[in-house]
Amino acid sequence: MRAVVLRGLRQVVVANVPDPRIEAPTDVIIRVTSAAICGSDLHMYNARTAPAEGMVLGHEPLGVVEETGSAVTAVRKGDRVLVPFNISCGVCFNCARGFTSACLAIDPKSVGGAYGYVGLGTYRGAQAEYLRVPFGDRNCLVMPGTPHDAWEDDFVLLADVFPTGWYANELAGVTAGSTVAVFGAGPVGLLAAYCAVLRSASEIYVVDWIEERLAKALEIGCTPIDFRAGDPVEQIYEARRAGRRLHPGEEKMPGVMCGIEAVGYQAIDWSDPNAENPARVIEDLIRLVNPTGRIGAVGLYVSNDPGGINPHAKRGEFSLSFGKLWEKSLSLGMGQTPVIRFAPQLRDMIVARRAKPSFLVSHRLPLEAAPEAYAMFEQRIDGCTKVILKPELKQGGSS
Ligand SMILES: [Zn+2]
Ligand SMILES: [Zn+2]
Repeated sequence: MRAVVLRGLRQVVVANVPDPRIEAPTDVIIRVTSAAICGSDLHMYNARTAPAEGMVLGHEPLGVVEETGSAVTAVRKGDRVLVPFNISCGVCFNCARGFTSACLAIDPKSVGGAYGYVGLGTYRGAQAEYLRVPFGDRNCLVMPGTPHDAWEDDFVLLADVFPTGWYANELAGVTAGSTVAVFGAGPVGLLAAYCAVLRSASEIYVVDWIEERLAKALEIGCTPIDFRAGDPVEQIYEARRAGRRLHPGEEKMPGVMCGIEAVGYQAIDWSDPNAENPARVIEDLIRLVNPTGRIGAVGLYVSNDPGGINPHAKRGEFSLSFGKLWEKSLSLGMGQTPVIRFAPQLRDMIVARRAKPSFLVSHRLPLEAAPEAYAMFEQRIDGCTKVILKPELKQGGSS
């Protein structure tokens, strides 16, 4: 079959690899109809993780069951299924408590596992024609409709970014009336902002510097904050003051109650857009979030970054205003999203027309166009907010 393989720094190719096969009675093989490229794929593409050459990339698939192992009972050939990026056994101590992102059984060397990701097991990625899904009963969520229908691009976002946007809101404690700031208007940041809209937050600020992304934030009813104009924390204080959102007696609460970090360790420093500063966004959120507020950090951080800006950054270490965090009684939650905990309800919101996350998708391309798609997404050009690869779309076709 054809699959997207990482060859080296900023180099992916579409190559022939052996077809996946049933290796355990609990396995399922799916035919992939859509596979999204994720911002976290770019970390491997940019050689900002442990070496990943030779890996088939991709962890955001939607497809159709092609074959099932003898022990699989929940899905059958022909079912349309969404596959969460976390691979989980479903029954270990952590899975049983809903933390499928920290499955104890899936990777002998670590906690948790994913498709096509370095350090998260040896599972082949989903940017391919077919995918082997371990523990298929647990890791396939049946979806209505048929391949390539009007839901296709909404459903594929359930594999990672839509639930991750939702989880960021859970971690940040976003409820009706909340004041929210989302740092980062990439796919996860925009969907986190969209989820805050769905949860009836009263004020939602979105910080970034890419115009097309800030325009999308405005389009879904949020207030865009362009950090090229200066300190985003001061800009949000000013926006709240100017909008008369600061009520008498609340002057000591000029920021927001809920902060969402959707950038990760390759954060750009607003004070110098040519410089990287992995602590920048968390520091900004510690300043911005009001006392007793919450911060949800879903951007990716790693403990092995060969391209880190200094020896500490190479080990994923940086200093933090921990004293301020404590003095303000802030809560800081973080980590990978346990996708299956949220995906069924978010699927139902899509089906009920309460949510349409595919507003995010800018490009739909054949699998063979992966090299161009990665380059475009990495350089954030051509209004590229989210790319979905379509293995069944022929080269030359796009929409
Ligand atoms: Zn992803
Ligand atoms: Zn488990």
